[in-house]
Amino acid sequence: MTGQSTDIVIIGAGIAGLVAAHECLENGRTVTIVDRHDETRVGGLARTAFGGMALVGTSLQKKLGIRDTPELALSDWRSFAEFGAEDIWPQRWAEAYVEQSAERVYHWLLDKGLRYMPAVNWVERGDFVPGNSVPRYHLLWGTGLGLVQNFVDHLAVHPRREHLRYVFGCRIEDLVEEGGRVVGCRGEIEATGEQREFRGDTTIVATGGINGNLQKVREHWPAAPAEILNGSHPFCDGHLHDVVENHGGRVTHLEHMWNYAAGIPHPQAHFDNHGLSLIPCKSALWLDHTGRRIGPHPLVTGFDTNDMCARLAALEKPWSWQVLNWRIAAKEFAISGAEHNPHIRESRFLPFMKEILLGNHRLVRQMQQESDHFIVADSLEELVERMNALDGADYVEFANVEHSVRGFDDNVRRGPSQWNDDQLRRIQHARAWKSDRLRTCAPKPLLDFRPLIAIKVRVVTRKSLGGIQTDLESRVLSRAGEPIPGLYAVGEAAGFGGGGASGKRSLEGTFLSGCVLTARAAADAIG
Ligand SMILES: Cc1cc2nc3c(=O)[nH]c(=O)nc-3n(C[C@H](O)[C@H](O)[C@H](O)COP(=O)(O)OP(=O)(O)OC[C@H]3O[C@@H](n4cnc5c(N)ncnc54)[C@H](O)[C@@H]3O)c2cc1C
Repeated sequence: MTGQSTDIVIIGAGIAGLVAAHECLENGRTVTIVDRHDETRVGGLARTAFGGMALVGTSLQKKLGIRDTPELALSDWRSFAEFGAEDIWPQRWAEAYVEQSAERVYHWLLDKGLRYMPAVNWVERGDFVPGNSVPRYHLLWGTGLGLVQNFVDHLAVHPRREHLRYVFGCRIEDLVEEGGRVVGCRGEIEATGEQREFRGDTTIVATGGINGNLQKVREHWPAAPAEILNGSHPFCDGHLHDVVENHGGRVTHLEHMWNYAAGIPHPQAHFDNHGLSLIPCKSALWLDHTGRRIGPHPLVTGFDTNDMCARLAALEKPWSWQVLNWRIAAKEFAISGAEHNPHIRESRFLPFMKEILLGNHRLVRQMQQESDHFIVADSLEELVERMNALDGADYVEFANVEHSVRGFDDNVRRGPSQWNDDQLRRIQHARAWKSDRLRTCAPKPLLDFRPLIAIKVRVVTRKSLGGIQTDLESRVLSRAGEPIPGLYAVGEAAGFGGGGASGKRSLEGTFLSGCVLTARAAADAIG
């Protein structure tokens, strides 16, 4: 490897960039991978990811009695995506995903030494729009961090390791174009201000999405609530999306995002507005800022995340409350990501199962101690008092909360044969699938168990569903629909393929796997 030039230059050392680098090395190429982070953050967002993946027709599904096929998955995918007629490449990527995920993600990662949990969860079942007909959500032992570490380790011991160069701490500002071909990129070492140029026959943009840039999020989501948390990272700022557009590339569907409904400020924030995304408890009551139950159709997670965010965004205030008790929290409360799931992250099966069976009191206690948005109280009166104290105003009316909770409890007390509440119906439905039953409480009156808990939540950003438009070889397409010579885009930067493979909604967990598929497609095409 000489000077600054290698065959391939990859911008972004997230999971998409790492997989692309691995595959290009395998193909005998020389590779430079440049990232703005320092080397302790190699792997980008996947370092913090939960590690859930929508996979279709796997041996694990078969073992659990789930009959899934690419045809069924495609039909679900199309229903959720609501593609427009012009979405040719997103649709082709959706087809490729459902066809390839078993072989090119599930088995491939097994071959790389990774393992999945022996359960498949059923998420995004659909509300008014049909979603996953069957459970598809596979979880990696080791979480996203294990996935990253696996590729970092494979690259470190690769027989052609000397043909890979990492450059950290460098922000790429522009692409370099010569004679109509992209021949590399240029940027600045942020610590020193030194200008650097990286040249290669092929440049792969793997810079992630735009959802770490709240200004851009608002630009593309005019109905966003007045307060949102950042559940991505500020380096996912969409700068390279703009650069690609300036060089003639097409960027589509940035209005489609995969944000989450239940964010709280990260108690140990790494950056401004840093949010944690809670997995909302199905058995909690979801109340507006005055304490009224949001309805008439109650908010219950696991059916249509996109719809939940849209409904929360339309509320009068940019926050809402989840009210529950410790019994519910111990069984159902979770936080998405590697950080708050140490047993999954460290692949510790027995402690993990103990928490599943006996309740995750550790995490509930941790949040009680660390977050002022997680309020624990012995009585409803005290709970409401402290909810208002957090707001610094008497927004929450005790009568509203009492009415919401007692109304729900009365319904529960009538017994399953007379339950007449959509949340209860959904809980019953969730509990019918064994993996979800383990994490969903049998309904019991809320006020029968103390202490009570109230969690103040806001919308938290996460993934960009849209992005740089690419063909099935991950080549960046121009506005005229032609590949731009020398330029590829993979992972979230490419909207996980085609500039928006999931359309309007994801079946959930289509992201890490989408990074693997798009990165492998690029490397195969480059050869
Ligand atoms: C807490 C959390 C949990 C998640 N859980 C899941 C899950 O369970 N399942 C799932 O499928 N997905 C999950 N995701 C989403 C998933 O992690 C991301 O979609 C995926 O990791 C994106 O990978 P990427 O390589 O495309 O981009 P990124 O990980 O965003 O990496 C892009 C890299 O490019 C660098 N970069 C950006 N701009 C520049 C520039 N101008 N110059 C140089 N470098 C630049 C960044 O520093 C970064 O390292 C989760 C995300 C988070 C935050």
